[in-house]
Amino acid sequence: MTAPMLLLNPGPVTLSERVRRSLLQTDLCHREDEFFDLQDEIRARLLDVYALDAARWAPVLLTGSGTAAVEAMVSSLPNADARLLVIENGVYGERMSAIAARHGIAHETLHNTWGAPIDIDAVIARLDAATSAMPAITHVCIVHHETTTGRLNPVGAVGAACKARGIGVLLDAVSSFGAETIDFAGWGITAAAATANKCLHGVPGACFVIAARDALAQAAPRTLYLDLPAWARAQDARGTPFTPSVHAYYGLLEALREFDDEGGLAARHARYAALAEQARAGLAAMGIDGLLDVRDASVVLRAYRLPADIDYPLLHDTLKRHGFVIYAGQGALSKAMFRISTMGAITAPDIDRLLDAVRTLRGGERTPA
Ligand SMILES: *Cc1c(COP(=O)(O)O)cnc(C)c1O
Repeated sequence: MTAPMLLLNPGPVTLSERVRRSLLQTDLCHREDEFFDLQDEIRARLLDVYALDAARWAPVLLTGSGTAAVEAMVSSLPNADARLLVIENGVYGERMSAIAARHGIAHETLHNTWGAPIDIDAVIARLDAATSAMPAITHVCIVHHETTTGRLNPVGAVGAACKARGIGVLLDAVSSFGAETIDFAGWGITAAAATANKCLHGVPGACFVIAARDALAQAAPRTLYLDLPAWARAQDARGTPFTPSVHAYYGLLEALREFDDEGGLAARHARYAALAEQARAGLAAMGIDGLLDVRDASVVLRAYRLPADIDYPLLHDTLKRHGFVIYAGQGALSKAMFRISTMGAITAPDIDRLLDAVRTLRGGERTPA
């Protein structure tokens, strides 16, 4: 067996022993009551994370990685007359555009460079610009936490503008669900897609969409497998359309119970915030700066500028020898930055050891502030 590694990449996360042990439960047939009890409890607990009302919101559990949930949402909910405005400022916004393009859904993009803030005035100007040449937007697609750079996008402001105009909001909440505030009603959210193995601390293989029930009723699914209303109907009737990843569901349920026992959303946010601040302060003392102002960053993941004298492979390999897996920048950012996520079973002493390992590359010296 390889030595245990602490994963500081943005999912899959380091599991707690409690969640890891939950995977070793009995085999289940997915057409038996025992499986439906498991599915029902997961669905109820997913709504509880944001205190959502089951009469208004359908938690739809899927088998697949986070992208499956995003694709199920974007390819199912907009009907044939829909026109999407996809807001991009990183890999995951661009992926929502690619999904719309792949399914032939009418869409346009508001592109921002990776890491740049979203231009809310430009969003509102486009929403108000419906003319014969500029068809009306029916849904805005936006990423909550753009994991590319750690930026937390202003979904509240964008969502309020959409809500006031009767425009739907399709939210990629894959790397924020369970750790950052999502005001489903206030932000006019139509649906939010997320996964088991980021802020909820489950294992890869289970993902989900929380969808407004009235939006599901008007959906126009474009694929057989990712037909969101079909999954929702089956699950509401204690069924499932296809073979689910039963063991990933075991892991997700135990992770949700643990989430609750640890104090829920507020506690998880506070825990991540403390770890992120510990890492930020320690790296800053070594002259390694964050890419973004902390006020713009999530508590889930932070991007840091690579110092001139340390390239990414050296940093990565040194930390890996000390038992930590960090994450490179994507695309053009791969030579300029690295990322540290504090999701999963990570503690303050772990971050201390991480900082000690980074310090071995800085000759123990501290750059004066
Ligand atoms: C991780 C992530 C995804 C999905 O990635 P998968 O590899 O499919 O799980 C989507 N959006 C965001 C913002 C993410 O961080």
